[in-house]
Formats: sequence, structure tokens, C-alpha cells
Amino acid sequence: MMCIRCGLQKSGADQFFVCDDCQEFGPLVKSVYSQAHETFDREDDLDPTDKDKEILRLLADTSFLNTNNPQTAIYYSLSMFFLQRASAGHTNITESELNRAVSTIRSWTDAFQVFEKLGLVKVTTSKFERNIKLTPKMVKLADQFGLDGGRSQEVVIRRAHTYAGYALMFILNELAKVDSVEERNSLPYGKSPRTLWTSLMFLWGAANSGSKKFTEDDFARFLSARRIPSRARGNIFSRLQAFDGRSTQTLIKDVEVSGNQRVFQLEDYVLREMNRIRERTRSRER
Ligand SMILES: [Zn+2]
Repeated sequence: MMCIRCGLQKSGADQFFVCDDCQEFGPLVKSVYSQAHETFDREDDLDPTDKDKEILRLLADTSFLNTNNPQTAIYYSLSMFFLQRASAGHTNITESELNRAVSTIRSWTDAFQVFEKLGLVKVTTSKFERNIKLTPKMVKLADQFGLDGGRSQEVVIRRAHTYAGYALMFILNELAKVDSVEERNSLPYGKSPRTLWTSLMFLWGAANSGSKKFTEDDFARFLSARRIPSRARGNIFSRLQAFDGRSTQTLIKDVEVSGNQRVFQLEDYVLREMNRIRERTRSRER
């Protein structure tokens, strides 16, 4: 039988089950999502570089890690377009404007629904097309870079990834509830972001257990045990190796070569943020 969330296989009578790792990972995903939600909702002024808001960095890194995945690229493209419009002072967008600016072979419907459920946009339908209104929540991070033109392109990219990561966390949070094929098929676009789920399960799991380092072999074994295709594995590893630019993920602090394999070192903030989330969850349960 196969784990419905990650793809791990074991022998047994049923076709699907939820493996132990996924059982444990689910509540962590839900906590990260609810923390992201609260941060976006509660704070009037969002500064992603604020040490108390490292959850925003975790969201951006989640999206950066997944950049090469065409399945989820639509969330990044939308975030980027919305931020650009918002920073130019426009909060109403028509579907045809969007079609001119962002090319995709996918329908907008599922992605719109994700953004709507997060409270980032409101979608209405006029006679011939849809209209998208950006909410104050979507405009929050745009206000800080737009009009004076003082922000660099790297900052704009990072902020777009913050929103894209928020959208991906929404889907991962849905995947954390999946127990059946029907539920899995009702995820946006009928697809589960299995590679992202499995990669974060390993990376956050390492941080959660307090270990700063992991080897390429261990990670690759973890992914292939869950039958993540080699191309998807390669994409994740190439993202992890890109860690020193300003428009790359910041989960990894350093990569060393030991023997014939790479050893990755997690950024301190990942451990800090995992610890913070654990503490919050515990104090809530009390
Ligand atoms: Zn699993």
C-alpha cells in the first residue's frame, strides 16, 4: 500500500494509508500555516526582515525551493503581477489585463480560489470577464517598495515569493488533511505538491530535531523512498545549492564536501523558527 500524502510504500491489504512521518508532519504544517495566517492578518506593518517575523522568510524560502516546478509556478507569477500592479497604485485588475501580462496554459480558477481563500483578492464576474480586486492584505508588502522605486529587483522577487509561499502553505495545509483519494483529487488543479511536501518533511524535520547538518545521500534516500522522480529530486538539490545570491532560497547556510558527497548546513533561522512554532503550539495546547 502507498501513503496517500508522500508516496511511501509498504506491504499491507489496503491500497492507501498515511505513513508515520506524514502523521507527524501534518500538525507541524498546520501550525506553520496558522502562524503565517496570523502574521499576515494581525500585523499592519509587515517587514519581512524583522527578526520576529521569520515566518515570512520561511514562506519565501518554501516558494524558492519550488521555483523550478511548473505545477506551482502560477502562484509566483500571480503574486509578482499583483505586487507590481499594487505598487503602481492599481488594485483593480481585469482578467484580460492579467492574460496579457502572465502567460500560462492553466486556468486561473483554482489559483484565484487559493488567493481568495487567503483573503488576498476578491474575484467578481462581469458580463464577459472576471475582475480581481486586491485586498489590503495583498497590498501590504507592495506599499513598501513601489512608488519611490527605491527597492531593488531582488526585494521585489523575494516579496513575490513570500506571497507565493503563503499560497503553497495553504495547499500543504489542505494536503495535511488528506486521507482519501477523493480528498487528494479535490486539491487545487487536482494535484498534490508531493515533492514540496516530502522535501519540507525532511528539511523541517531535520531542523525540528535540532540537527543543523544533513548529507545529500540521506536526503536523496528519503526522497527516493517516497518515489520522488529523479528530475524533481535534481530540481530540489539545485535549488539547495543556490544559496549565496540575493534571489535564492536562504534555508541553507553552507555546503561542504565530505568524502564524495555534499553536506548541507541549515541556516540558524530555520531551527529558531521551528522552535518558536513548537513553543507556540505547546502553549496553546496547555
Ligand atoms: Zn507519507
